[in-house]
Amino acid sequence: MARKANSPNADISSKSPSNVTETGTERFRVGGFESLSFCDWPGEIVATVFAQGCPWDCPYCHNPHLLPAIGSNELDWTDLLGFLETRRGLLDGVVFSGGEPTLQRGLGAAIANIRTMGYRIGLHSGGPYPQRLAAILPLVDWVGFDIKAAFTDYDRITRVPGSGLKARKSLELVLESGVDYELRTTIDPSLLDDKAVAMIGAELAAYGIVSHKLQKYRPIGIRAA
Ligand code: SF4
Repeated sequence: MARKANSPNADISSKSPSNVTETGTERFRVGGFESLSFCDWPGEIVATVFAQGCPWDCPYCHNPHLLPAIGSNELDWTDLLGFLETRRGLLDGVVFSGGEPTLQRGLGAAIANIRTMGYRIGLHSGGPYPQRLAAILPLVDWVGFDIKAAFTDYDRITRVPGSGLKARKSLELVLESGVDYELRTTIDPSLLDDKAVAMIGAELAAYGIVSHKLQKYRPIGIRAA
């Protein structure tokens, strides 16, 4: 799960622009922006772009305003690039978080925009779109991959049938890619008990994975039950 997105940055306007750029590619929809973060990519000083839209519906989601594919207060992509221009040499990289960044077909072009400024790229994903993730992995330097539950148990968390199969495939792609990664799971005790957490550990161990971060659920900004 991505952490809670901050309110819009004062340096970046919310123009709700058209979804098509001047070059005809799909514009990346930004629902939030953090100009300085020390926690979104371990060991790196970054800015974080919160992608608009997520196909899943986790009960503990901190960013429910990012779930619709089109947000009510999106930030202007051109302004955001302008802001990042002013931070060249001051930040190590830019993280695409969400929401779910791979939901958007404009993600590759958005990453390319930022790469040309010399930034390294981090990606937060839960892996709902394995094919799109496969196309994006060569463009990123690090992936923070959310493991929601044991793969057979995913739908209970995401509330979307078949999500575990997609997440499993995406995890395999990350492992095969050779891209640096971190796996993490949000522990909401009302959804994941000790047995459910042990099931996750057993599945990851079958892939030879020994490092898996458990993060405490924080009931901040979630929707009312
Ligand atoms: S994957 Fe779940 S927690 Fe993350 S943005 Fe989507 S609904 Fe929210």
